Amino acid sequence: MKKNSQEKILQIETELISIGNNPEQQFGFVSPPIYRGSTAIYPDVPTMKTIINSPLKLEYPNYGRFGTPSSHNYENSLAKLEGGFNTVLTGSGLSAITTAILTFLKTGDHILVSDSVYLPTRNFTHTLARFGIQVDYFNPRWGKEIKNLIKPNTRVCFLESPGSLTFEIQDIAKIAEISQKNNIITMIDNTWSTPMFFKPLELGIDISIHSGTKYLTGHADSFLGAIICNSKTYPEIRTQALQMGQFAAPEDVQLGLRGLRTLDVRLQRHQKSALTLAHWLESQPEIQEVLHPALPTSKDHHLWKKYFSGSSGLFGFHLKNQWSSDQINQMIHKLELFKLGHSWGGFESLVMISDPANFRTTSSFKEKGALLRLHIGLENVEDLKNDLRNALNSL
Ligand SMILES: *Cc1c(COP(=O)(O)O)cnc(C)c1O
Repeated sequence: MKKNSQEKILQIETELISIGNNPEQQFGFVSPPIYRGSTAIYPDVPTMKTIINSPLKLEYPNYGRFGTPSSHNYENSLAKLEGGFNTVLTGSGLSAITTAILTFLKTGDHILVSDSVYLPTRNFTHTLARFGIQVDYFNPRWGKEIKNLIKPNTRVCFLESPGSLTFEIQDIAKIAEISQKNNIITMIDNTWSTPMFFKPLELGIDISIHSGTKYLTGHADSFLGAIICNSKTYPEIRTQALQMGQFAAPEDVQLGLRGLRTLDVRLQRHQKSALTLAHWLESQPEIQEVLHPALPTSKDHHLWKKYFSGSSGLFGFHLKNQWSSDQINQMIHKLELFKLGHSWGGFESLVMISDPANFRTTSSFKEKGALLRLHIGLENVEDLKNDLRNALNSL
């Protein structure tokens, strides 16, 4: 963490205000310009040759696809905030995931994947299978138990905590420790927590991946992916991303940098309102189970408490198993503030119906009622509660 001139450690809320900005290099303006461009002009042939021959292409002038002063500032900022060595930005969360996975695998290798990963991550393993890479899914509450699935050709272990839709938490430090011993690269989808609430590299995870589309930019108006790496994995990830033509668009990078300024205040509100509503839903007669790891009643609460310093605005709940899908659809249509939509992490509240039973292989959803996912936005929490109560009344 940065120190100020009196050598005091600055807290993250203070760091977020200026990290990645260089007013002295931008005519005094506090926010960076958008560097929109493909061509950047070299001053002379020797400079051009030096830069072309540099392996990671981080020098200027260069070529827009290799990054801009703003994208590199944003990459360094995210790495600093999360205790990484450096970051590689891509155009979306999913491209960050696929790039990171591909970097370390070849035909004949084996990858372990948590059963509750984001569905498009799971779908990508079909591509891996086409290239002769074996995939095994593991129980999303496992820790040391992954030992039983490790093979001599296991190269990557992919985690996501809390998991998509069902919010399970892996014993992350245990998995990191066992993987290190077996020479397995560990990567985690850390989108839910942001660097505010969880720093997986401190537990020995090699790579932390974010969909910057969610809280990091925070306004549902851009796409970004970030691969935060330790020093061991960074050069290989950067090389792979360059080979695949991955990059982040200049406007989206600027929105990512801008999002950092309000990340803390936005997440504090998301956290507080989501906890209020999760507690309240637990006591409502129509609800079977609330899936939120910061609730003391959650099966994942002990691991959440051990590893995470906060919780964000996304959680799920099962309704009791007694209503038809038509009745549940009607209930959802009664919601006025919660809009029906994909993605999350913006300012607005959202609702989704999900059916993980269709694709999960290690969990059973027998006896469970319909599963809904809520993203709690920045609206007034009493208004949101009334909206949910009004819709539940229709059941
Ligand atoms: C949305 C999401 C992604 C993918 O991000 P995009 O930017 O939409 O590609 C990855 N992981 C998780 C957990 C997500 O929710």
